[in-house]
Amino acid sequence: MSVAAQFSELYGYEPAGVWAAPGRVNLIGEYTDFNEGFVMPLALPHTAVAAVAKRTDGVLRLHSADIDAPITELRVDELTPLSKYGQGGWAAYPAGVVWALRDAGHEITGADIHLASTVPTGAGLSSSAALEVVTAYALNELFALGLDRPRLAVLAQRAENVFVGVPCGVMDQMASACSTEGHALHLDCRDLSTRQVPFDLAAQGLELLVVDTRVKHELGDGAYAERRAGCEEGARVLGVSHLRDVAYDELDAALATLEQAQVDEKVVRYVRHIVTDDHRVEQVIALLDAGDVRSIGPVLGQGHRSLRDDLRISCPELDLVVDTATAAGAIGARMTGGGFGGSAIVLVENADADAVTKSVLAAFEAAGYAAPRVFPAVPSAGARRES
Ligand code: ADP
Ligand code: MG
Repeated sequence: MSVAAQFSELYGYEPAGVWAAPGRVNLIGEYTDFNEGFVMPLALPHTAVAAVAKRTDGVLRLHSADIDAPITELRVDELTPLSKYGQGGWAAYPAGVVWALRDAGHEITGADIHLASTVPTGAGLSSSAALEVVTAYALNELFALGLDRPRLAVLAQRAENVFVGVPCGVMDQMASACSTEGHALHLDCRDLSTRQVPFDLAAQGLELLVVDTRVKHELGDGAYAERRAGCEEGARVLGVSHLRDVAYDELDAALATLEQAQVDEKVVRYVRHIVTDDHRVEQVIALLDAGDVRSIGPVLGQGHRSLRDDLRISCPELDLVVDTATAAGAIGARMTGGGFGGSAIVLVENADADAVTKSVLAAFEAAGYAAPRVFPAVPSAGARRES
């Protein structure tokens, strides 16, 4: 049954429209977003789809086809940050968007929303951003707010940061809102300027595989905050507002300054990761602009080692994907997203995709890990109206 038909069955009337917003995978540039640096995500074919109708009585009703729970009914003028809405707190994501829009002065007088998503949750593929962005995009159209995509992304991020209480950067929402088919999105997290960089894998005979390890190790949340604090300390000692301001060719001097100031050795590692990963984003862009997609492989591998050894956010499952895929002939591979589980990406020749996938599956079985989920990341469109 279509999402629109599910809406009709649930609420007893037809939705005003159906909207979709994708999950994303990050090609390169990890933990650089909150350092006001560069990232380069691409939208996945997997989307959160929302059937929505406007209300004028202040009532907000929320339902997800993917959560076994009844409709969550709220009042838009009573939405409170950090409240748990819906089974497992899921409804706080769309409710947070309504709150963020209203808090920014936009008159949202209520809505009925029914959602269904094909974005795997908790796999580092931003199912949460897809949910937020589809809600923001739909309400923007329904209430004729006239907000542009970056503005919607920022409000969606605010919903997640302030309302849900997750301190994420803006990359996920920007990727879901602003991506276009056949491109990766170069995003400058300082001013939110974007450029669509051609990333036509199929034309090159290539595939980018996503390997979802289906594990999520506990230390994730605390580790993110700790890395963030470490980066802030590094920036403070170096006298810059954000690590983005440390140029790649000044890295050695910056590291020497940090050592002289006797900061914790981990701060030195974090700074090295951020500055080199920003540089890797620029390298990847130059290669893609030159049409040399294969040459990004080694850069992906360097990115993985930096995440594993300097930022230290990898885990045995992610390392196993990268090592096995590389040994089986992949052009490049790295973990992607927040780390401690979630997904890795693997760039392969079309002809090698099956063999590489089989090697990874066999390695997981041999290690006694649950089978990972493997699928191709086809660079897809950002948020849009479906019907
Ligand atoms: P990620 O964004 O990496 O997938 P998060 O932990 O940030 O992981 O977001 C996952 C959460 O988003 C889920 O626990 C749930 O609350 C919410 N969510 C995602 N997809 C759906 C869905 N289809 N229906 C309801 N809630 C969802
Ligand atoms: Mg998320």
